[in-house]
Amino acid sequence: MNKLMEKVLCAECRSIHPYDIHTEQVTREWNGNTYSFNKRIAICRNCGQRVTVPGLDDLNETEFEIKCRTVNDYIQIEEIRNILEKYDIDKRPLSKVLGLGEHTIENYLKGQLPNKRYSDMLKRILVSSAYLMKMYEKNHDKLNKHTAEKLGNKLEYYKNINSHNSTIESVALYILNSKYEITNMSLQKLLYYVEAFAQVLLNVQIFNNRCEAWMYGPVYPKIYEKYKSFGNSQITVDTIDLSEILSDDIRKLIDFVLNQFAIYNAVTLKDFSHSEAPWINAHVGYGEKEHCTEAITHEAIEEYFSEMHKKYNLSTVKGVKNYISSLGVV
Ligand SMILES: [Zn+2]
Repeated sequence: MNKLMEKVLCAECRSIHPYDIHTEQVTREWNGNTYSFNKRIAICRNCGQRVTVPGLDDLNETEFEIKCRTVNDYIQIEEIRNILEKYDIDKRPLSKVLGLGEHTIENYLKGQLPNKRYSDMLKRILVSSAYLMKMYEKNHDKLNKHTAEKLGNKLEYYKNINSHNSTIESVALYILNSKYEITNMSLQKLLYYVEAFAQVLLNVQIFNNRCEAWMYGPVYPKIYEKYKSFGNSQITVDTIDLSEILSDDIRKLIDFVLNQFAIYNAVTLKDFSHSEAPWINAHVGYGEKEHCTEAITHEAIEEYFSEMHKKYNLSTVKGVKNYISSLGVV
């Protein structure tokens, strides 16, 4: 809205005036069906007559299109742009890799509505690099060598960040598939709490990976390396169903940990861990800004959190909240 002019020429007043935006319900056709829509209209503040505001019609069109696509579960134009960005690919090569005519994606971006089947295919590609990989394997010879290689590398990159050959990788992907915004730094702390809570609440050692007492708290180096390319940004991965891989109990436990801890940002989680014995003891002898790779052992995690469980009852939301406030960070 802020792109629109603040004052326009009113035909009635024959002079320039500010206007107000009202809405008017209209019915419109979209893809063979009729929909009602709140169209924005501009009213001259001086005389109350309708005025023309450049750009307002386009805005109405865009809003109507977005609404209809949402209601009918069609891909949005913005999402098609996100596909190009995610896979770092141009419109034509993407069309080719999908086995479509070479101008198809370009036309979709201009507003042409894909049929439902292609729309569903595009939606799936946006959330699943594995699915695009299948089409790439089938159609990559339709691309020139350079483009094929570039996309191939990108897909390999996604294949790696979405791989889950061990429990810790599956847990990480489950966390990254949650509704929370997770960075590499917060992921490390959440894995640490999952390990701790699995031990004290389910009495299982969920994974046996090396955890180290880095400057910014506990880190699982293998997972840290895997998602390093995201820097401090939110990590995005494929939408992956892990219900066959992680048991109900484990998924419930992770959800519980996320509900209590993923609401805090990475720096706060780091501060929590800096108030906890497992990190403090492993980090002894290192300065605040000194790189430390000493191990935080599973036994240290188990011992400390078992004690905290006895004191606060970490199986309840209230218990965890009391525990967190005892750390004196928030
Ligand atoms: Zn007027």
